[in-house]
Amino acid sequence: MFNELYESIYQAIKENQTIIIHRHVRPDPDALGSQLGLAHLIRQQFPEKTVYAVGEEEDSLMFIGKMDQVETDQYTDALVIVTDTANRPRIDDKRFSTGKALIKIDHHPDEDHYGDISLVNTQASSCSEIIADLSLYLGERLPLNTEAARALYAGIVGDTGRFLYAATSPRTMQIAAELMTFDFSASEIGQLMNTNSKKVANLSGFVLQNVEISDLGVGHIILSRDILEKFDATDSDTAPVVSLPGTIEGVMCWAIFVEQEYGGYRCRLRSKGPIINEVAKRHDGGGHPLASGANAKDLAEINQIIDEFEELMVEWSKQ
Ligand code: AMP
Repeated sequence: MFNELYESIYQAIKENQTIIIHRHVRPDPDALGSQLGLAHLIRQQFPEKTVYAVGEEEDSLMFIGKMDQVETDQYTDALVIVTDTANRPRIDDKRFSTGKALIKIDHHPDEDHYGDISLVNTQASSCSEIIADLSLYLGERLPLNTEAARALYAGIVGDTGRFLYAATSPRTMQIAAELMTFDFSASEIGQLMNTNSKKVANLSGFVLQNVEISDLGVGHIILSRDILEKFDATDSDTAPVVSLPGTIEGVMCWAIFVEQEYGGYRCRLRSKGPIINEVAKRHDGGGHPLASGANAKDLAEINQIIDEFEELMVEWSKQ
Protein backbone atom coordinates (compact mmCIF):
# COMPACT_ATOMS: atom_id res chain seq x y z
CA MET A 1 0.00 0.00 0.00
CA PHE A 2 2.86 2.38 0.77
CA ASN A 3 5.30 0.90 -1.73
CA GLU A 4 5.34 3.94 -4.03
CA LEU A 5 6.01 6.28 -1.13
CA TYR A 6 8.71 3.94 0.16
CA GLU A 7 10.34 4.09 -3.30
CA SER A 8 10.14 7.91 -3.38
CA ILE A 9 11.66 8.19 0.09
CA TYR A 10 14.46 5.82 -0.90
CA GLN A 11 15.19 7.87 -4.04
CA ALA A 12 15.31 11.09 -2.01
CA ILE A 13 17.69 9.52 0.50
CA LYS A 14 19.88 8.19 -2.29
CA GLU A 15 20.05 11.51 -4.09
CA ASN A 16 20.97 13.72 -1.12
CA GLN A 17 24.38 14.02 0.48
CA THR A 18 23.22 15.71 3.69
CA ILE A 19 20.20 14.39 5.57
CA ILE A 20 18.86 15.99 8.74
CA ILE A 21 16.25 14.12 10.77
CA HIS A 22 13.86 15.91 13.14
CA ARG A 23 10.98 14.77 15.39
CA HIS A 24 8.57 16.33 17.86
CA VAL A 25 9.25 18.44 20.92
CA ARG A 26 9.24 16.71 24.34
CA PRO A 27 10.46 13.49 22.70
CA ASP A 28 9.13 10.11 23.75
CA PRO A 29 10.68 6.72 22.90
CA ASP A 30 8.91 6.53 19.53
CA ALA A 31 10.03 10.02 18.49
CA LEU A 32 13.64 9.16 19.32
CA GLY A 33 13.44 5.56 18.13
CA SER A 34 12.08 6.47 14.70
CA GLN A 35 14.49 9.39 14.31
CA LEU A 36 17.61 7.55 15.44
CA GLY A 37 16.56 4.26 13.85
CA LEU A 38 16.31 5.95 10.47
CA ALA A 39 19.63 7.73 11.03
CA HIS A 40 21.36 4.39 11.78
CA LEU A 41 19.84 2.78 8.68
CA ILE A 42 21.07 5.53 6.38
CA ARG A 43 24.51 5.80 7.99
CA GLN A 44 25.19 2.10 7.58
CA GLN A 45 24.06 1.87 3.97
CA PHE A 46 25.49 5.22 2.83
CA PRO A 47 28.60 5.86 4.94
CA GLU A 48 29.63 8.70 2.59
CA LYS A 49 26.54 10.75 3.49
CA THR A 50 26.33 13.18 6.39
CA VAL A 51 23.36 12.32 8.59
CA TYR A 52 22.23 14.33 11.62
CA ALA A 53 19.54 13.68 14.24
CA VAL A 54 18.56 16.94 15.90
CA GLY A 55 16.45 18.23 18.79
CA GLU A 56 16.51 18.56 22.55
CA GLU A 57 17.73 15.59 24.52
CA GLU A 58 15.62 13.89 27.18
CA ASP A 59 17.76 12.67 30.09
CA SER A 60 15.61 9.65 30.92
CA LEU A 61 15.79 8.40 27.30
CA MET A 62 19.49 8.79 26.64
CA PHE A 63 19.77 5.00 26.38
CA ILE A 64 18.10 5.27 22.96
CA GLY A 65 20.80 7.60 21.68
CA LYS A 66 22.21 11.10 21.49
CA MET A 67 21.43 14.10 19.32
CA ASP A 68 23.83 15.82 16.90
CA GLN A 69 24.72 19.49 16.59
CA VAL A 70 24.06 20.98 13.14
CA GLU A 71 25.28 24.30 11.77
CA THR A 72 22.47 26.30 10.20
CA ASP A 73 24.24 26.56 6.83
CA GLN A 74 24.12 22.76 6.55
CA TYR A 75 20.40 23.03 5.86
CA THR A 76 20.80 24.83 2.53
CA ASP A 77 21.51 21.65 0.62
CA ALA A 78 19.93 19.15 2.98
CA LEU A 79 17.06 16.71 2.75
CA VAL A 80 15.07 17.13 5.97
CA ILE A 81 13.02 14.18 7.24
CA VAL A 82 10.59 14.66 10.13
CA THR A 83 9.41 11.55 11.98
CA ASP A 84 6.48 11.04 14.37
CA THR A 85 5.17 14.63 14.19
CA ALA A 86 1.65 15.40 12.98
CA ASN A 87 1.86 19.17 12.77
CA ARG A 88 4.56 21.70 12.02
CA PRO A 89 4.29 23.70 15.29
CA ARG A 90 5.30 20.55 17.24
CA ILE A 91 8.49 19.92 15.26
CA ASP A 92 11.56 20.36 17.45
CA ASP A 93 14.03 22.85 15.95
CA LYS A 94 12.36 25.28 13.60
CA ARG A 95 15.16 25.08 11.04
CA PHE A 96 13.36 22.03 9.61
CA SER A 97 11.70 24.31 7.04
CA THR A 98 14.97 25.68 5.68
CA GLY A 99 16.17 22.54 3.90
CA LYS A 100 16.16 21.79 0.18
CA ALA A 101 13.36 19.24 0.49
CA LEU A 102 11.11 17.98 3.27
CA ILE A 103 9.69 14.52 4.02
CA LYS A 104 7.08 13.71 6.66
CA ILE A 105 6.89 10.16 8.06
CA ASP A 106 4.22 9.71 10.70
CA HIS A 107 1.43 7.59 12.18
CA HIS A 108 -0.79 10.32 13.68
CA PRO A 109 -3.97 11.52 11.96
CA ASP A 110 -2.80 13.81 9.14
CA GLU A 111 -4.05 17.11 10.55
CA ASP A 112 -1.33 19.19 8.92
CA HIS A 113 -0.34 17.87 5.51
CA TYR A 114 3.25 19.03 5.08
CA GLY A 115 6.31 17.87 3.16
CA ASP A 116 7.26 17.34 -0.49
CA ILE A 117 6.71 13.68 0.31
CA SER A 118 4.26 12.74 3.05
CA LEU A 119 4.01 9.16 4.30
CA VAL A 120 1.28 8.87 6.94
CA ASN A 121 0.16 5.42 8.07
CA THR A 122 -2.34 5.79 10.90
CA GLN A 123 -2.68 2.00 11.12
CA ALA A 124 0.89 1.63 12.34
CA SER A 125 1.38 1.29 16.10
CA SER A 126 4.27 3.71 16.01
CA CYS A 127 6.47 5.67 13.68
CA SER A 128 9.27 3.24 14.54
CA GLU A 129 7.12 0.46 13.09
CA ILE A 130 6.85 2.44 9.82
CA ILE A 131 10.62 2.97 9.62
CA ALA A 132 11.20 -0.75 10.24
CA ASP A 133 8.58 -1.61 7.60
CA LEU A 134 10.32 0.73 5.14
CA SER A 135 13.61 -1.04 5.76
CA LEU A 136 12.06 -4.50 5.43
CA TYR A 137 10.39 -3.44 2.15
CA LEU A 138 13.63 -2.02 0.74
CA GLY A 139 15.59 -5.12 1.74
CA GLU A 140 19.25 -4.92 0.77
CA ARG A 141 18.80 -1.31 -0.37
CA LEU A 142 18.38 -0.09 3.24
CA PRO A 143 18.92 -3.12 5.49
CA LEU A 144 18.34 -3.26 9.22
CA ASN A 145 21.32 -3.28 11.53
CA THR A 146 21.74 -3.79 15.27
CA GLU A 147 21.76 -0.13 16.30
CA ALA A 148 18.72 0.69 14.18
CA ALA A 149 16.86 -2.42 15.39
CA ARG A 150 17.50 -1.50 19.03
CA ALA A 151 16.24 2.08 18.62
CA LEU A 152 13.20 1.01 16.58
CA TYR A 153 12.33 -1.73 19.07
CA ALA A 154 12.44 0.84 21.91
CA GLY A 155 10.11 3.10 19.91
CA ILE A 156 7.59 0.32 19.29
CA VAL A 157 7.69 -0.80 22.94
CA GLY A 158 7.15 2.83 24.00
CA ASP A 159 4.16 3.62 21.81
CA THR A 160 2.41 0.29 22.33
CA GLY A 161 2.86 0.33 26.11
CA ARG A 162 4.79 -2.91 25.72
CA PHE A 163 2.30 -4.34 23.19
CA LEU A 164 -0.70 -3.49 25.39
CA TYR A 165 -2.57 -0.81 23.44
CA ALA A 166 -5.13 -1.44 20.71
CA ALA A 167 -2.82 -0.19 17.93
CA THR A 168 -0.67 -3.31 18.41
CA SER A 169 -1.36 -5.41 15.30
CA PRO A 170 -0.10 -8.74 13.96
CA ARG A 171 2.23 -6.66 11.75
CA THR A 172 3.59 -4.90 14.86
CA MET A 173 4.45 -8.27 16.36
CA GLN A 174 6.02 -9.53 13.10
CA ILE A 175 8.19 -6.43 12.92
CA ALA A 176 9.14 -6.64 16.61
CA ALA A 177 10.12 -10.28 16.03
CA GLU A 178 12.34 -9.28 13.07
CA LEU A 179 14.01 -6.58 15.15
CA MET A 180 14.64 -9.02 18.01
CA THR A 181 16.77 -11.21 15.73
CA PHE A 182 19.49 -8.53 15.92
CA ASP A 183 22.20 -8.55 18.55
CA PHE A 184 20.69 -6.38 21.28
CA SER A 185 18.87 -7.30 24.45
CA ALA A 186 15.12 -6.75 24.08
CA SER A 187 14.65 -7.54 27.74
CA GLU A 188 17.23 -4.90 28.69
CA ILE A 189 15.24 -2.35 26.67
CA GLY A 190 12.07 -3.55 28.41
CA GLN A 191 13.72 -3.22 31.83
CA LEU A 192 15.14 0.22 31.07
CA MET A 193 11.71 1.40 29.99
CA ASN A 194 10.12 -0.14 33.07
CA THR A 195 12.53 1.50 35.53
CA ASN A 196 11.68 4.84 37.12
CA SER A 197 13.53 7.15 39.45
CA LYS A 198 12.42 7.10 43.10
CA LYS A 199 10.73 10.47 42.69
CA VAL A 200 8.68 9.15 39.76
CA ALA A 201 7.83 6.05 41.80
CA ASN A 202 6.60 8.34 44.61
CA LEU A 203 4.64 10.46 42.15
CA SER A 204 3.11 7.24 40.74
CA GLY A 205 1.88 6.29 44.20
CA PHE A 206 0.37 9.76 44.59
CA VAL A 207 -1.41 9.55 41.24
CA LEU A 208 -2.87 6.11 41.98
CA GLN A 209 -4.06 7.22 45.41
CA ASN A 210 -5.51 10.55 44.35
CA VAL A 211 -6.97 10.14 40.87
CA GLU A 212 -10.67 11.04 40.96
CA ILE A 213 -12.93 8.56 39.23
CA SER A 214 -16.48 9.41 38.20
CA ASP A 215 -19.39 6.97 38.17
CA LEU A 216 -19.16 6.85 34.37
CA GLY A 217 -15.47 5.89 34.41
CA VAL A 218 -13.73 9.20 33.76
CA GLY A 219 -10.51 9.56 35.74
CA HIS A 220 -8.67 12.80 36.32
CA ILE A 221 -5.99 14.34 38.47
CA ILE A 222 -4.43 17.79 38.54
CA LEU A 223 -0.69 17.90 39.17
CA SER A 224 -0.22 21.46 40.40
CA ARG A 225 3.16 23.18 40.66
CA ASP A 226 2.99 22.56 44.43
CA ILE A 227 2.52 18.83 43.97
CA LEU A 228 5.28 18.62 41.36
CA GLU A 229 7.63 20.52 43.67
CA LYS A 230 6.73 18.26 46.60
CA PHE A 231 7.93 15.28 44.54
CA ASP A 232 10.79 17.25 43.00
CA ALA A 233 9.26 16.27 39.64
CA THR A 234 9.46 18.04 36.29
CA ASP A 235 6.96 18.08 33.46
CA SER A 236 8.78 15.23 31.72
CA ASP A 237 8.62 13.12 34.90
CA THR A 238 4.87 12.90 34.33
CA ALA A 239 5.30 10.69 31.21
CA PRO A 240 5.65 7.41 33.16
CA VAL A 241 2.53 8.10 35.25
CA VAL A 242 0.18 8.89 32.36
CA SER A 243 -0.93 5.29 31.84
CA LEU A 244 -1.56 4.55 35.55
CA PRO A 245 -5.22 5.64 35.91
CA GLY A 246 -6.06 3.23 33.08
CA THR A 247 -4.88 0.32 35.23
CA ILE A 248 -7.68 0.97 37.74
CA GLU A 249 -10.84 -1.09 37.33
CA GLY A 250 -13.69 0.88 35.76
CA VAL A 251 -11.62 3.74 34.34
CA MET A 252 -12.32 4.08 30.60
CA CYS A 253 -10.85 7.48 29.79
CA TRP A 254 -8.74 9.80 31.85
CA ALA A 255 -6.79 13.03 31.96
CA ILE A 256 -3.71 14.15 33.80
CA PHE A 257 -3.44 17.93 33.97
CA VAL A 258 0.10 19.15 34.54
CA GLU A 259 0.42 22.76 35.63
CA GLN A 260 3.09 24.56 33.61
CA GLU A 261 5.78 26.86 34.95
CA TYR A 262 4.50 29.86 33.04
CA GLY A 263 0.78 29.22 33.58
CA GLY A 264 -1.82 26.96 32.06
CA TYR A 265 -1.98 23.18 32.05
CA ARG A 266 -0.64 20.51 29.76
CA CYS A 267 -3.43 17.95 29.36
CA ARG A 268 -2.39 14.35 28.86
CA LEU A 269 -5.48 12.49 27.68
CA ARG A 270 -5.95 8.74 27.31
CA SER A 271 -8.77 6.28 26.62
CA LYS A 272 -9.46 2.58 26.43
CA GLY A 273 -12.55 3.04 24.26
CA PRO A 274 -14.15 6.43 23.51
CA ILE A 275 -12.40 8.49 20.82
CA ILE A 276 -10.85 11.46 22.60
CA ASN A 277 -8.82 13.34 19.99
CA GLU A 278 -11.81 15.49 19.02
CA VAL A 279 -11.88 16.77 22.61
CA ALA A 280 -8.14 17.43 22.38
CA LYS A 281 -8.60 19.39 19.14
CA ARG A 282 -11.18 21.65 20.78
CA HIS A 283 -8.58 22.54 23.42
CA ASP A 284 -5.53 23.51 21.44
CA GLY A 285 -4.29 19.96 20.93
CA GLY A 286 -4.70 16.77 18.98
CA GLY A 287 -3.25 13.31 18.67
CA HIS A 288 -4.38 9.73 18.30
CA PRO A 289 -7.94 8.51 18.84
CA LEU A 290 -6.97 6.94 22.19
CA ALA A 291 -3.92 9.02 23.20
CA SER A 292 -4.01 12.77 22.84
CA GLY A 293 -2.67 15.96 24.31
CA ALA A 294 -4.11 19.45 24.75
CA ASN A 295 -3.65 22.71 26.62
CA ALA A 296 -6.02 24.21 29.20
CA LYS A 297 -5.57 27.84 30.16
CA ASP A 298 -7.19 27.54 33.61
CA LEU A 299 -9.25 25.37 35.97
CA ALA A 300 -12.46 26.32 34.15
CA GLU A 301 -11.11 24.82 30.93
CA ILE A 302 -10.02 21.71 32.85
CA ASN A 303 -13.59 21.29 34.10
CA GLN A 304 -14.81 21.77 30.54
CA ILE A 305 -12.55 18.93 29.33
CA ILE A 306 -13.74 16.66 32.16
CA ASP A 307 -17.37 17.47 31.24
CA GLU A 308 -16.64 16.61 27.60
CA PHE A 309 -15.14 13.28 28.70
CA GLU A 310 -18.30 12.62 30.76
CA GLU A 311 -20.40 13.29 27.65
CA LEU A 312 -18.26 10.85 25.67
CA MET A 313 -18.86 8.23 28.33
CA VAL A 314 -22.63 8.82 28.24
CA GLU A 315 -22.55 8.07 24.50
CA TRP A 316 -20.14 5.18 24.96
CA SER A 317 -22.31 3.52 27.61
CA LYS A 318 -25.26 3.51 25.16
CA GLN A 319 -23.33 1.35 22.67
P1 AMP B 1 1.42 13.14 25.51
O1 AMP B 1 0.40 13.06 26.57
O2 AMP B 1 2.13 14.45 25.51
O3 AMP B 1 2.30 11.95 25.53
O4 AMP B 1 0.67 13.14 24.10
C1 AMP B 1 0.05 12.02 23.57
C2 AMP B 1 -0.14 12.24 22.09
O5 AMP B 1 -0.97 13.37 21.89
C3 AMP B 1 1.14 12.55 21.32
O6 AMP B 1 1.66 11.40 20.78
C4 AMP B 1 0.68 13.50 20.26
O7 AMP B 1 0.19 12.76 19.19
C5 AMP B 1 -0.52 14.18 20.84
N1 AMP B 1 -0.31 15.54 21.35
C6 AMP B 1 0.15 15.88 22.57
N2 AMP B 1 0.16 17.22 22.73
C7 AMP B 1 -0.32 17.74 21.58
C8 AMP B 1 -0.56 19.07 21.11
N3 AMP B 1 -0.34 20.14 21.88
N4 AMP B 1 -1.05 19.23 19.86
C9 AMP B 1 -1.30 18.15 19.08
N5 AMP B 1 -1.10 16.88 19.47
C10 AMP B 1 -0.62 16.66 20.69
